[in-house]
Amino acid sequence: MATQLDYYEVLEVSRTASAEEIKKSYRRLAMQYHPDRNQGDADAEARFKEISHAYDILKDEQKRSAYDRFGHAAFEGGGAGPGGFDFSGFGGGGGLGDIFEQMFGDMMGRRGGGQARSGNDIQTHVEITLEEAFSGVKKDVRVITRVACESCNGSGSESGASGVQTCPSCHGIGKVRAQQGFFIVERPCPTCHGTGRSVKDPCKACHGEGTVERERVVEVQVPAGVEDGTRIRMTGSGEAGANGVPPGDLYVHVSVLEHGLFQRDGANIYCRVPLRMGQAALGTEIEVPVIDGSRANVKIPAGTQGGAHFRLRGKGFSVLRSSARGDMYIQVTVETPQHLTKRQRELLEEFETEAGEDIKHSPEHTGFFRRVRDFFEGGE
Ligand SMILES: [Zn+2]
Ligand SMILES: [Zn+2]
Repeated sequence: MATQLDYYEVLEVSRTASAEEIKKSYRRLAMQYHPDRNQGDADAEARFKEISHAYDILKDEQKRSAYDRFGHAAFEGGGAGPGGFDFSGFGGGGGLGDIFEQMFGDMMGRRGGGQARSGNDIQTHVEITLEEAFSGVKKDVRVITRVACESCNGSGSESGASGVQTCPSCHGIGKVRAQQGFFIVERPCPTCHGTGRSVKDPCKACHGEGTVERERVVEVQVPAGVEDGTRIRMTGSGEAGANGVPPGDLYVHVSVLEHGLFQRDGANIYCRVPLRMGQAALGTEIEVPVIDGSRANVKIPAGTQGGAHFRLRGKGFSVLRSSARGDMYIQVTVETPQHLTKRQRELLEEFETEAGEDIKHSPEHTGFFRRVRDFFEGGE
């Protein structure tokens, strides 16, 4: 089963985004990944195509609505693959426009009939480490859903499909009309409880429903570069539909756990490294961990201030659907020594005496003290 990223995620908008928000986000991303700006970068080109394709769907109200209901399956023309939506009943050769017209016509015709066009979508959640988000990972997720009943092959009847007929009371509509005072109201058909079906000889395992609750294990391929909060849609892995309609989709919400060493911001990674006061003053070379499991050396020049950062190009996070990587930033903190030995104390006192005599030693302090003097004397 194909793991496809949601069109909304491709365009970095929420599911409830307005047409204007979608357009805005599309423009921004299209500019960023436009082939003219990324010459020779195959990843950017692929991303650009994805963005354009997602926008083609979401900018069109009808297509967007179809996508919301059926997911990617709505656009897999003629596809009757696993979980695919079979368009063969719509006359095949028609263009996408025809297909939509027919599909919507069909939906209108069936509106109010108790039958859904697909099973329910289900949601689940998976937690991954930052390292797994970096490299991508396969995860087994457990979901409890209704699946087609094994005993009756989903028909709901002990005697199979032949035991299922259209409900005679509502003629398959699932609703009946009744006069209530001056009004005519619709209510679920009492004979078939809204299913529109009449099951002879109901299956004992599923009590005629055609579906049973089961725990399933679904393998989810989480792509490298995934962000915390990403939702992966797995078409056709949702709940089985009653009476043979296609299953719904499975949405897997991905949480990326916090890491003890690295903080991530998009494709960049930040790592705080503490230095001793002497190391910062004299300069040194330090070894730092890299998210891919390797090590890197960083030269710290003499006189490095706390808060300085050093960039390690290409040592950052993986970029979704790309071989590119962001950068890593080493953020330096300078630690003031505590619990001094007697000798250390003497050395520092000596250092302080000398530093205090040398006005050029700390130019920033000179500026600071001049400003302090101006502050107190300024009013006079
Ligand atoms: Zn009925
Ligand atoms: Zn059954």
